[in-house]
Parts: sequence; structure tokens; C-alpha cells
Amino acid sequence: MASPHVFSRGGAERVRIDHGHGAQLVDVEGRSYLDAAGGAVVVGIGHGRTEVVEAAAAQASRVAYVHGSSFSSEVLEEYADTLAPLLPLDDPRIYPVSGGSEAVESALKMARAYHLARGEDRDVVIGRQGSYHGNTRGALSVSGRAGLRRPYLPWLTGFAHTSTPYEYRCPYPDTHPGGCAQRHAEALEQQIQELGPGRVAAFIAEPISGAGLGACVPPDDYWPAIAEVCRRHGVLVIADEVMTGFGRTGTWFASEHFGLRPDLLTAGKGTASGYWPLGLAVVSGPVHETLREGGFVHGFTYSHHVVGAATGLAVLRVLERERLVEASARQGERLHAALRRELEGVPGIGDVRGRGLLQGVELVADPETREPFEREERVIERVLEACREHDVLVYPGNGCADGRRGDLLLLGPPFVVTDGEVDRIAAGVAAGIRDVL
Ligand code: PLP
Repeated sequence: MASPHVFSRGGAERVRIDHGHGAQLVDVEGRSYLDAAGGAVVVGIGHGRTEVVEAAAAQASRVAYVHGSSFSSEVLEEYADTLAPLLPLDDPRIYPVSGGSEAVESALKMARAYHLARGEDRDVVIGRQGSYHGNTRGALSVSGRAGLRRPYLPWLTGFAHTSTPYEYRCPYPDTHPGGCAQRHAEALEQQIQELGPGRVAAFIAEPISGAGLGACVPPDDYWPAIAEVCRRHGVLVIADEVMTGFGRTGTWFASEHFGLRPDLLTAGKGTASGYWPLGLAVVSGPVHETLREGGFVHGFTYSHHVVGAATGLAVLRVLERERLVEASARQGERLHAALRRELEGVPGIGDVRGRGLLQGVELVADPETREPFEREERVIERVLEACREHDVLVYPGNGCADGRRGDLLLLGPPFVVTDGEVDRIAAGVAAGIRDVL
């Protein structure tokens, strides 16, 4: 029996995990599962990495905590120096926090503070329909998931949402194949004009959408067109790379696929691969300079945590030494091909999409009309449970930008996943879907 003292929203009994190794997790009864989603698309370097644990423990035994606003440390500086050349920003400056929502919250404040420091009172941030940027108030404001937002709407202010590139349910179907980028850019332009160009502080989006719509890769000309609109209006670009950063899509950061050089970037899942709750808000040198001049005041008790820095540094070393970003690209292609093969003829398959080891499978009631399932059918919950019965752990995504709920399986195994494990993931997912549909 599970402890009644752990806050739980109910639903299926949670598996009690005992330990993990590589892409596998083992429960207290000794049963092994393939961690096909790296938890919540977090674990890049794999489970059971003693060298990362040892780096964290060594730092904690020297000193576990100093307050980040008053003290620095060698480990934090080494971490920043090692990470900086890998980031897709000009002259990046990193602000370590405790997770993705804190990173987004920090970036939103930085964007507004940047404009204030330049004498401009810009109060709106534009996000995208169907997006997910976190569960705190600011992050939920810019998120576009209607169901998550609805109860808190009275608290959610200072945001607007524009269209999302989502080929399977494109808001501009007449432009396909391949012509929607310009229409998304026009929609953003129109929204900025309607709000008043002097009011928009920033545009926030995932370079490749993850938890919101699920592994949607935009057309190659989307980001150049969007960035041009933003630059013309002095709107800062925030690339939310909480899910896509640190190798997940086969490059260090997903911005690289599109030549995107954001002004701010957020990270938080692969950053420390789950070994420590480490998020990052990153700003470009010019933004940093303006914030400094403006006297930006911000901070959390656990910002700039030294054990977080030691853990993040150890994770970077593993990613580099074992060439795991390349592995993510390679195994991502294998996983995509295996899913397409195994899901051939399986009922309810709408779309299979993704880049690197971020892959999504959208399930629909009718593949012809692309009509989603009714909410009451609880399809995604049942499929997750069925996949688990086949020893494959997957993660739910949303997969509908228009306020309806979609059913999406999100796959994001650790980059150390072997060829055989990739094939077993695809077969287990197909078997789980067949059991339910
Ligand atoms: N941004 C994106 C793109 C995410 O996927 C998430 C979490 O799924 C967040 C922000 C929020 O991160 P956290 O759950 O660590 O607060």
C-alpha cells in the first residue's frame, strides 16, 4: 500500500522504482522497464551514473550551500565557462535556478526589466497556442494550454498567444506543403500591431515544441521569419529549451536546427539529467549589460547552487566525452523509423513526428478526419498503462492547439539507449496501443 501522506492526484497506482541503469528502471519487485521518456523527458545521460553522483557528493562535502547573490565558487565559474561556448546566444551569461518554471519566470522578468532599463514600459509577452512553459503564474500566463489555464485565468495577465506551427493540424492548411511560415509571421506581426508595438516585451516559444503539442518540428523558414518580425519591433526572442536543450533533439540546443540566435534561453530538464533540480535562464551579453545598468534585482534561495553547478558540469563532461548529442541524433532516427514500421496498420495512429530523441505519436479517433478521441474515453491514460504492461514507460503530451484535448505519446529515452532497446520501445508502444484501441 502506498503511503497516504504523499500528495497524490489519484489515478493508477504508481510503480515504486528501486533503481536504474542506462535506459532501464527496476521496481521494488525486481521488474525492469524501459524508461522510454527519460522520466518527463529529463534523463539524457542515463540512470546510474556514479561519476555524476560522486561529483555532486564531493562538492556537497566541501560546501553544500552558499548564497548565490553574495558568493561565487570555482565550480560555478567552471560550469559557466564550459557551457557558454555550447549555447546558441551571443556572449551568453547563465543564471542557474531550480527548474524549468523558475527559468521561464526569471526570463519573463528579465525581458521586462531589459526594456524598463532602456526607458520602455513593455508589459506583454506573446506565447503560442497549445504551448507549455510551466506551472507557475507567469509561466502559465504565456502557456497556451486552455485546460491548465482555465482555473487560474483571473490571475494570468500580461500575455497574448499567436499561432503555432503544427503541420498535422496546421491553422493555414491551404499553404501546405511548406508555405505556412510566412502566415505565422504575418499573424505575429498583426498581433504586435493590435497590442501596440511599444507594448510587446518578448516572444517565447520552444524551437521544437515538446510537452505542449508534442515533438512538432516547424518548417525551416519558420524561425527566420519569426525572428525578423521580433527584431523589427524590438521584441526579445526567448527560446524555451527546457525540454529540447542539452542534446535532446540531436544538437546541443534545438535553436541550432534553424540558425536561431535567441536573446534569452531557458533550460531545465537535460541540464543535470535528473541528478539535481537544475534550471537555467540564459541571456545574451547585450541583454545582460542592459540589465546590469538597470540594476535588475532577482533571486531565489537556491539560485546559483554549487552542488547544482558541480552536477551540471559532470553531466556536460559525460555528454561531451561519450558524444551523446550525436547518439541522440542517430538513435532518434532509428526510433522514428522503428515507430513508423511498428505502427503501420495499428488503429488510431494519426501522426508520428519528432527530431532526435524527442518523438511523438498522436492518437486520433479517426485517422481520415483527424478527429481526436472524446476526453471521457481516457485514451492516453489507458495507453500509458498498457505500454507499462509491456514494460515500456512513456509520457503524455497534449496534441491539440485549439483548446480541445489531444492524445499524444511523448518518447524521449536517454541517449545511451541501445539499438535493441529502441526496437523494444517501438514494439512495446505498438502493442500497448493495440491493447487499448
Ligand atoms: N518549459 C517547457 C518547454 C517544459 O516542457 C516544461 C516542463 O515540462 C517547463 C517549461 C517547466 O519546467 P518545470 O516542470 O521544471 O518547472
